[in-house]
Amino acid sequence: MTEHVQVQAQGLNVVEAVNVTQTQMDFTADAVVIGSGAGGAIAAYELAKSGKSVIVLEAGRYVPAERMTEMTAVSLGTMYADHGGQANSQGDITILQGACVGGSTVVNAALCFRTPDHYLRLWAEEFGLTNISTEVLTPYFETVERNIWITQNEAWESSPGAELIKQGMEAAGNPIGHAKRNVKDCALTGFCFAGCKTNRKQSMLVTYLPWAQAYGAEIYADTRVNEILSENGQATGVTAEVINPDTGEKVADMTVTAPIVVLAAGPIQSPILLMKSGLANSSGQVGKNFACHPSLSLTAEFDEEVNDTVGATHSVYMDEFVLPDENGVGGFILLNAIEQPVLAGASQNPGTGRPYVNLMERFANTIRLITLLHDKNSGEVTYENGMKSINYTVDDEDFESMKEGLKVNARILLAAGASKVYIPTTLSRVIESEADVDPVIDALQNERSRYPYTSFHPQGTLRMGADPATTVVNPMGETHDVRNLYVLDASILPTSIGYNPSETVYALASYISDQINAAHP
Ligand SMILES: Cc1cc2nc3c(=O)[nH]c(=O)nc-3n(C[C@H](O)[C@H](O)[C@H](O)COP(=O)(O)OP(=O)(O)OC[C@H]3O[C@@H](n4cnc5c(N)ncnc54)[C@H](O)[C@@H]3O)c2cc1C
Repeated sequence: MTEHVQVQAQGLNVVEAVNVTQTQMDFTADAVVIGSGAGGAIAAYELAKSGKSVIVLEAGRYVPAERMTEMTAVSLGTMYADHGGQANSQGDITILQGACVGGSTVVNAALCFRTPDHYLRLWAEEFGLTNISTEVLTPYFETVERNIWITQNEAWESSPGAELIKQGMEAAGNPIGHAKRNVKDCALTGFCFAGCKTNRKQSMLVTYLPWAQAYGAEIYADTRVNEILSENGQATGVTAEVINPDTGEKVADMTVTAPIVVLAAGPIQSPILLMKSGLANSSGQVGKNFACHPSLSLTAEFDEEVNDTVGATHSVYMDEFVLPDENGVGGFILLNAIEQPVLAGASQNPGTGRPYVNLMERFANTIRLITLLHDKNSGEVTYENGMKSINYTVDDEDFESMKEGLKVNARILLAAGASKVYIPTTLSRVIESEADVDPVIDALQNERSRYPYTSFHPQGTLRMGADPATTVVNPMGETHDVRNLYVLDASILPTSIGYNPSETVYALASYISDQINAAHP
């Protein structure tokens, strides 16, 4: 493995639609990278550093810190896939993904976990991924942790709500996990989801992308790849369109001819691109095995004001029950989160009309604790007649796990001193004492469109493994079917991992980049 020496960032020089004057642009490069998020940015840096000419094509806008606003409604519109409205086909799970230079890393909450050993062992046993053992990946985790400043929160970074939740976990007898995040000198505003206006979050926008550019990588924003090209079973480049994001009008067509194609458009767009290109699907698994960690957030109301508005977005977690049971079912993790009223009001469903106003008037008295479900890979992304669908519902088994999580969550909040705990459902359920927890939550049914789930972690869809009959990408990150077509984003995770996945993507992208450099010296 190569040692990753940091180079000084030179600032980011991105070609945007407004800078493009030609209507046709044709380039050649050693490698073309599709998407500039967690996977794409790391590939761009590692490949450029090894001396390759690299072109990065990003469908989303370039939004540097000075153009960010600390307004969730604005950032949803400008920096998220489908303006923040991406959802499953049933419409009850909002599936959030960043769509901007730097991808989801620009709008994420920066909470980081190494891939659990449990999964690295399972992937070796069930998917033949003996090459990504804990021993092999540990130096990659260490490097990326050093490079993007993944460190445990300092005590002073905790929020008032997190402190109450810690007390609740202690009183309820649950272990307390202390967050690690990739944020340097956090300003503690809690606006992570709108992008970090002061560039303290060490997202790809301010780390790997400028470093890649310092080694010569070129970055095009507003540029959507439409097709991956191949000849004789070997990738040869891509075609793309430059679209003005304000008018929706096409500005230019683009081709990039390159012997190495790196696909890192994320777990929804990467399989769609393979489907559009008619590539790499001899297994029939492209788009299948979708998981997304659906989450529900309980809102706790206290008699006194808590003012949970200053602090790290995430400070504490509880992972005692994160792994599936002996039958492979379920699991959940609990995460505190500072949320601004716009997001909290939208996702936590405190009713409408007077009930909504009542709760929002007492917003200063409330805190939130998220239950994030460790779901099965049961969904599928499809693309037909120019339309994408994310066919995925929380099944009955996973719903029972969610209920277990909500119970633990509610008990922690009550133990923290909450007088009321609100369950986000159209039935407006409220828990007011320990005695309510089981009866109220046991009564919840897995009814369609009843719960406003949010997903921050789409995964799967191009899973990695040794068997070309059941997986899309081989253990080195190359598609089984097309030589020199590599995938290194959250699509390749063979199973849902239960924990927030960014560090897993960072480490796997670094590992696969080394494999690409070894195969193409
Ligand atoms: C609001 C939010 C909060 C999150 N919080 C956390 C957290 O605290 N901790 C954690 O571990 N994870 C978190 N995540 C998830 C984490 O950021 C992602 O798992 C990770 O970034 C996935 O990396 P990726 O490379 O697969 O995709 P992304 O980082 O999403 O990058 C994919 C990029 O590809 C671009 N693209 C798509 N299609 C095309 C195309 N056709 N042509 C060109 N470009 C294209 C997209 O615009 C996007 O910029 C969060 C995500 C969100 C949205």
